Amino acid sequence: MDNEKLKGLLAYISENISSWNEQKYIPRDGWLTFGKQGVIGVSMDREQGIKAFSELIAGFCRFKNVGLISSFSVNEIALTLLARFNSPQAAAAKAEVLEGRKNISMCITEEGAGSDVSAIAAEAAAVDNGFVLSGKKTMISNGPIADYFIVAVKTNKEVAAWRGISLFLIKKDDPGLKVSPALLKAGAHLMPLGEIEFENLKLTEERLLGKRNRGFEHLMSVLIFERTVISIMSTAMSEDALDSVMGYLSEREVFGKKLRDYQNTKMVMADLFSRARIMRVFVNNIMDDFDSGIMDKTDVIIGKIMASELLKDIIDALYRLYGARGYLASHWIANYYNDVRWINAGGGSNELLKDVLGNNIVHGGS
Ligand SMILES: Cc1cc2nc3c(=O)[nH]c(=O)nc-3n(C[C@H](O)[C@H](O)[C@H](O)COP(=O)(O)OP(=O)(O)OC[C@H]3O[C@@H](n4cnc5c(N)ncnc54)[C@H](O)[C@@H]3O)c2cc1C
Repeated sequence: MDNEKLKGLLAYISENISSWNEQKYIPRDGWLTFGKQGVIGVSMDREQGIKAFSELIAGFCRFKNVGLISSFSVNEIALTLLARFNSPQAAAAKAEVLEGRKNISMCITEEGAGSDVSAIAAEAAAVDNGFVLSGKKTMISNGPIADYFIVAVKTNKEVAAWRGISLFLIKKDDPGLKVSPALLKAGAHLMPLGEIEFENLKLTEERLLGKRNRGFEHLMSVLIFERTVISIMSTAMSEDALDSVMGYLSEREVFGKKLRDYQNTKMVMADLFSRARIMRVFVNNIMDDFDSGIMDKTDVIIGKIMASELLKDIIDALYRLYGARGYLASHWIANYYNDVRWINAGGGSNELLKDVLGNNIVHGGS
């Protein structure tokens, strides 16, 4: 991505991030600036390729703000899903999101349906010229600041879920929609998390995204992208974290000896650095595949699991190396310790993905 443009954007964020942190969300002005700089939807830009998105996220890492990276990325994921539909409603919403005038969230999870998407209870009944929707969605990233919600509901409860789920585009001001205030959470504070509830919400047929009862396939296809994004985010943050600890290791002395000169430090760093290098090669391969349009689903799952687990391991190890100071809320490592946890659950929990992967391995298939 254009270096000067990236520099300008990072300078703008640097000036504003403290006030964003206080508000606990990226305000409209921030999104409009992202839009003006052309970075919203950068991952869909065929010319630049997904590496431009990766460079942007690597740039964001300097702020040590997982909420910033997460909030931007989940908007990107929901936008990518929206962009698969070419109805006039979807196209109009896409244009607004690309410009940063509006935000969009993806709403699948419910109290009784997390990993198991087939358990969703929200439903839509067909009526004259449209549908009536009822249900509740929880754990919605950017929910409190979203203007559009892509919502997964059952449109046929008589068949297996993969043949009975549809996606709808709900607007913030639709009568019958309630959006909760931000939920209090453990970390990644710049990405607000919320709930939406819809009761007898009437939508015209144009709000149906894609074909009726084909929502599951659309969700599965965007999950591949979501997992790719998580691998990219996690790897960028891992590399940045390893880079950031170096100064401290060469300054801090313990028993008259620099921390970097202890064998324990060298072993820990050698292990983490090697894993991060291997991860980088693997993630670069996934990005190349993405740009060539031929994704290996198994590689994407492996990438998501390994990159997010590695990030967690790196943060845990650095947390120890920083000693007591790392426990202060003002220290980035203390924040990261909580902030990165959600990445293991997002895009399909690592346990679920290992189950899928293991099943493929022992029973064959890909
Ligand atoms: C910060 C954050 C942001 C989120 N943003 C969104 C969003 O924007 N939109 C949205 O729809 N959802 C969102 N989610 C929800 C997320 O997708 C779910 O948390 C995830 O799908 C897991 O569901 P669950 O939390 O209900 O856990 P459950 O499905 O109840 O799982 C409980 C435990 O069982 C494990 N488990 C699951 N399946 C298996 C298996 N097959 N084998 C063994 N163990 C298994 C899980 O790993 C977990 O440890 C978000 C979550 C977080 C934390």
